[in-house]
Order: sequence, then C-alpha cells, then structure tokens
Amino acid sequence: MLYWDYAAASPPYEEVVQTMEQIMKLHYANPSSLHRPGAEADRLITRSREVCAAALGVQPQEILFTSGATESNNLAVKGAALQYRSRGRHIVTTDIEHPSVYESCLQLKSLGWEITFVAPDRTGVVDPAHVAAAVRRDTVLVSVMHVNNETGAVQPLREIGSRIKAANRRTLFHVDGVQGYGKLETQIKEWQADLYSLSPHKVRGPRGVGILYVKEGVALFPILTGGSQEQGVRAGTENVAAVVASAKAIRMSGERREAFNHQILPLRNRLLDFVSGIPEFTVNSSWDGAPHIVHFSYPAVNGEVMARKLEELGMTVSTRSACSSRLAEPSRVLLSMGRNAADALGGVRISLGDSHTEADVAALEQALLTAVQALKIVERGTK
Ligand code: PLP
Repeated sequence: MLYWDYAAASPPYEEVVQTMEQIMKLHYANPSSLHRPGAEADRLITRSREVCAAALGVQPQEILFTSGATESNNLAVKGAALQYRSRGRHIVTTDIEHPSVYESCLQLKSLGWEITFVAPDRTGVVDPAHVAAAVRRDTVLVSVMHVNNETGAVQPLREIGSRIKAANRRTLFHVDGVQGYGKLETQIKEWQADLYSLSPHKVRGPRGVGILYVKEGVALFPILTGGSQEQGVRAGTENVAAVVASAKAIRMSGERREAFNHQILPLRNRLLDFVSGIPEFTVNSSWDGAPHIVHFSYPAVNGEVMARKLEELGMTVSTRSACSSRLAEPSRVLLSMGRNAADALGGVRISLGDSHTEADVAALEQALLTAVQALKIVERGTK
C-alpha cells in the first residue's frame, strides 16, 4: 500500500518516536509541580519553546503550546474576538479556510459578530485588494491561511498583511500556517502576522499538540480556563513528551525544507502534468501551488468512490481535508472557486511526502488510469 495522504497526517520521524518514548518514561512529572522532577519537565518545555521560536524566527515567549492546530485556530479567532470586543465585532476571513477557522467565525456570527468571507479566484487564490477592501474601522481580526489544505493554493500573505495594516493598523492578522510550514518559507515578520498556527503532525511530529505564535503585546481571551499554564492563556497540564518531540519535528522539517522541495517538486510536477492530461479530470491545483498537493475532480463519481477504488489498487488518497472527508457534501472550497456541484463532490487529494519516489508516482499514475477505466464501466452499467 502506498500512502498519499501526508497533508492529513505524516509518519513521525524515527527521532520523534524515540524522543516521545524516552520523555514519557523519564519525565512524567507535572511541569507545574514545584519538586525537582516537575522543574525538569518544565525546563524541557522551556527548551522546546526556544527551539520552535528559533525555527519560526520569533521570541520564545511568543510561542504557546496547544492540543493541535484546531485548538490554535479556535484560540486565535475566538480569543482575539473576545479580547478586543470593545474595539469592534467585525472579522474578515475567506471562503477557503479550514473548518477550525471557518466554523469559529460562524460560531462568533451566531453570537452577534459580523463576518465578511472573501472569495478566491478560480485557482483558489484570494486577492489582497479584496481582503483590504473588506477591512473596516471595527475589524478586529483578519484570518487567511498560508496554503489551502484541499487544493494547495498559496495565498499572497505579504501583500495581504501590508494592505490590512494600511487599511487599519489595529486589525490583527492571523495566519493558519499548517499546510505551509516545512514546504514554503515561513515569514511571520514579513507578513506582519500577529498570530500564526502550526500543527506538528503535518511535518512528521506527534499528534495532539499544536503551536500558536502570539506576537508580543497581543492579548487573547482564554478559551480553556482552570490553570496558569501557557502564560494563563491555555490552561491544562502540558503533554511534555509531545511538546519536546514537536519541537524536534519543527526544527528538522524546517531545516529540510529545501531538500524536501528539491525531492518533491519534480514528483508533484510530473503528477500534475499527468492528471492535467486526463480529459475526464478537472484539475484544482496549480503549478504555483504548494509542492506537496495535487487535487483533481472526477465529476462522474463522488470522490469517496474514486478514493475507495484507488485503495483497492493499493493507493491511499483522500478526498479533501480529513476533518471534512466524512461529509457527503460538495466541497465548500471548490464551490467558492466556481466549480460546479459534480466537481465539488468528485474531489480527490493526493499529498506527497519525503518517502515518495519516481517509481511510486509511476505506480500511482497506472492506478489512476485503471480506476478511471473501472469506474467508467460501473458508470455505464448503472445507466
Ligand atoms: N488548518 C489546516 C489548513 C489543516 O490542514 C488542518 C488539518 O488538516 C488543521 C488546521 C487542523 O490541524 P490539527 O489536525 O492539528 O488539529
């Protein structure tokens, strides 16, 4: 079986597994405890914060650990909205955000906030001018992702950031960096981002831990209360082993970013070329997109049917983000890009990782051809 779902979860580095095991065995004390083992566990978290900060080019005190990027995104959006509610109750985001941002905004809407959703173009890219035009005096937050998790479309964050700040310098800028880190350059300062979310398990780290960069001077209303951990912004006993292993994965994948691109980009290009050549497919990724995602629609059948067929042929792919893949609804992201309902239901996402080779891509291409032929027969048979 070949695994093509790195954008949903990636296999942890061997060093990450070893670190997790070691720390779980040796440093099980609670980092908030005042005894020596507690202080040692706390020191490991402090050190991990420094490692993550160095990888992101920020200060250690600007790094918070959470339970995952879903929590980081919830905390960024709701925490900023609640903290700065006296400044205004307007938020700008896009139609293509991950559900953890999108639904946080919908929840705030149900509580009285006003949300402006900016649509992307047909390639899935948001126009910075459209984002800036939506910013008002009462806009407390703009949230735009770095790389879309379905299509791999890369958003022009530097221009978006500078236009937001020109429109209203008090408006905070949050970036969901989950699918960009380790693939593209992370430029928190150049983007003028105030908040930035990261998920270690997308870059060969452990699950159940997330990172949130919060720029010095920015306050967040805590969503989880009940302890003074993480500067009082995120209560709960820290998962020391996962935090230390995450820092390792963030450092390693950051250092390997160029080598990763060197290896993966030719494979992505070959695959994108291949799917572009299949007349039955609508291609939803572009050459300017992230190096690890190829997304296409086969409108004849639902994406799940194609994914199952490919699984029978030894290829594990997904239809869209893992968080939405159980919904038999058309993809919100594809609809916002102007795709029709059949295309929006027939999406398939292939995401590459550093285990892949030319031979793997050749095998996947063959499986795609076989699947299309087989599904055509099924389709004809049912008519
Ligand atoms: N944001 C994006 C763009 C994602 O792709 C994902 C996961 O697929 C998340 C946020 C949520 O990350 P986590 O799995 O760490 O909660």
